Amino acid sequence: MLKVPKVSDVIEKQRNFFGTGKTKDISFRIEQLKLLKKAIVDNKEAILKALQSDLNKPEFEAYGSEIVFCLEEINNALKNINSWTKPKKIKAPITQLLSTAKIYCEPLGVVLIIGPWNYPFQLVISPLVAAIASGNCAILKPSEISATTSHLLSEIILKYFNPEFVAVVEGGVDTSQQLLEEKFDHIFFTGSGEIGKIVMAAAAKHLTPVTLELGGKTPCIVDAKTHLEYTARRIVWGKFMNAGQTCVAPDYLLVDRKIKKDLLEQIKKCISEFYGENPEKSPDYARIINQKHFNRLCKFLGSGEIVIGGDTNPSERYIAPTLIEGVGWQDAVMQEEIFGPILPVIEYTELTEAIALVNAKPKPLALYFFSTDKQKQQRVLHQTSSGGACINDTVMHLAVLDLPFGGVGESGIGSYHGKAGFDTFSHQKSVLNKSFLVDVKLRYAPYLGKLKLL
Ligand code: NAD
Repeated sequence: MLKVPKVSDVIEKQRNFFGTGKTKDISFRIEQLKLLKKAIVDNKEAILKALQSDLNKPEFEAYGSEIVFCLEEINNALKNINSWTKPKKIKAPITQLLSTAKIYCEPLGVVLIIGPWNYPFQLVISPLVAAIASGNCAILKPSEISATTSHLLSEIILKYFNPEFVAVVEGGVDTSQQLLEEKFDHIFFTGSGEIGKIVMAAAAKHLTPVTLELGGKTPCIVDAKTHLEYTARRIVWGKFMNAGQTCVAPDYLLVDRKIKKDLLEQIKKCISEFYGENPEKSPDYARIINQKHFNRLCKFLGSGEIVIGGDTNPSERYIAPTLIEGVGWQDAVMQEEIFGPILPVIEYTELTEAIALVNAKPKPLALYFFSTDKQKQQRVLHQTSSGGACINDTVMHLAVLDLPFGGVGESGIGSYHGKAGFDTFSHQKSVLNKSFLVDVKLRYAPYLGKLKLL
C-alpha cells in the first residue's frame, strides 16, 4: 500500500525547498510553468474523462472552461512574468535626495490552495499558475466530492512535479482541517461562504492572509429595452452550463414585467435549441454532482410554479433546465445560492425596484444587466455592488484574464486571474535606497529652531 506522507512533513519539505531560494529564480518559474502546460496537454484526454465521470461534464464545456482556461493563464503568465517581476521604480520626493524608491515583488513562501468540486480542475490549477509565477511552493487540496478529478490531479502533479515544490494532499473535511491547523504563508480557498468562515478563523490563528473565492446569489436583471433573442441565449448558456453548478451562474432573474412573457418564450425556445426537446438525452447537458445536492435542489422545485422544465431523474441525478415563477424572498430557493439548473423569475415595474431588491441582499459575486439603454447601464453599475459584472452577457467577464476576478462582502475577499493572481501570491516590498554622497542634517536632533524651516 502507498504510504501517505504526513501533512506536516510535506510542508516542512516545501519550507526547506523554498529556503534554498530556487523559486525566486525567474527562469525556474518559467520552466515550471512550461512543465505545468506540458502536464495539462499530455493528460487532456484523461482530464476530460475524469470531468465526465464526476459531473457528466460535456467535452466542449470541459475543454473550454477547464483546460483552455488554464492554458491561457499559463501563456499569459509566461508572456508577462518578466514585466510582473521587474522592480517598479517610484518617484521619491525631493526631500529624499539622491535616493531611489522601488517596489519589489517577493514570493510569500508555502501556500495552500483548497478547491471546490464544480470546476475541480480549473479552480485548483488556475491559482497554482499564479502561485508558481510569483515564486511560491504550493500544496493543493482538491475537493473530495469530485473524487475522480482529485485522484487524477494527484497523479499528474506527482508525476511532473517535485513534491518539495508542488504537492497534492487528497481528502475531505478531516484532511482539510488538518491542513488548516498548519502555518501557511497564504491560503487560497474557493468554496462556500460557510466553509470560508472556518478557513478564515483557522488562518487567523497563524495570522495567515487569505483569499476567499466564495459564491452567492448572482442577480440577472433584464430591462424592457433589450435584444430579446441574444439576451435569452446568453442567459440560458450562463445558467445551464455545467447544469447551473457555476459560482457566477445567474441565480435569479429580475425582469421588466412588460417583456417577461416574451423573454420566457425566447428562453424556452433557446433551451430546446441548445439541448433538444428532452435535455436528458442531450450529450451537452451535465448532471448534479451527488445525491445530497440532487435532493437539495429537488426541494426547490416545490416552490412557486414551474413554467419551464421541472423533470427529474434520480437514478441519473438529472434535473431539467427549469424556470419557476411566483416565489417569494422567504422561500428556501431565494434564501440560499441555488447552484443548480433552477432559475426563479421575479418581475419588476421600475428599475429602481430591481436595484433595491439586489441591494437588500448580500453583495453577490457577479451581477448581469441586459439593456441597450446606456444611462440605465451606468445606473445599475453605480447603484449596486458585486464582485464583477457583465452588461448584456453572463459569465464572460471571466474570459478576460486581465480583469481581476473575486467577490466583495459575503461573496469573497481578494481576487486573481492574470496579474491579479500574481499580486495575490506576492508581497510588495517597498524599498528606499539612499546614497552616501550627501546627508542633510535637518531631521536629526537637536531640533531647536528647526521647526520654522519646515
Ligand atoms: P465547500 O465550501 O463545501 O468545499 C470547498 C472545499 O472546502 C473542499 O475542498 C472541501 O473539502 C473543503 N471543506 C469542506 N468542509 C470543510 C470544513 N468543515 N473545514 C475545512 N474544509 C472544508 O464548497 P463546494 O460545495 O465544493 O463548492 C460550492 C461553493 O463554492 C458554492 O458556494 C460556489 O458558489 C462556490 N464557488 C466559488 C467560486 C469562485 O470562484 N468564487 C468558484 C466555484 C465555486
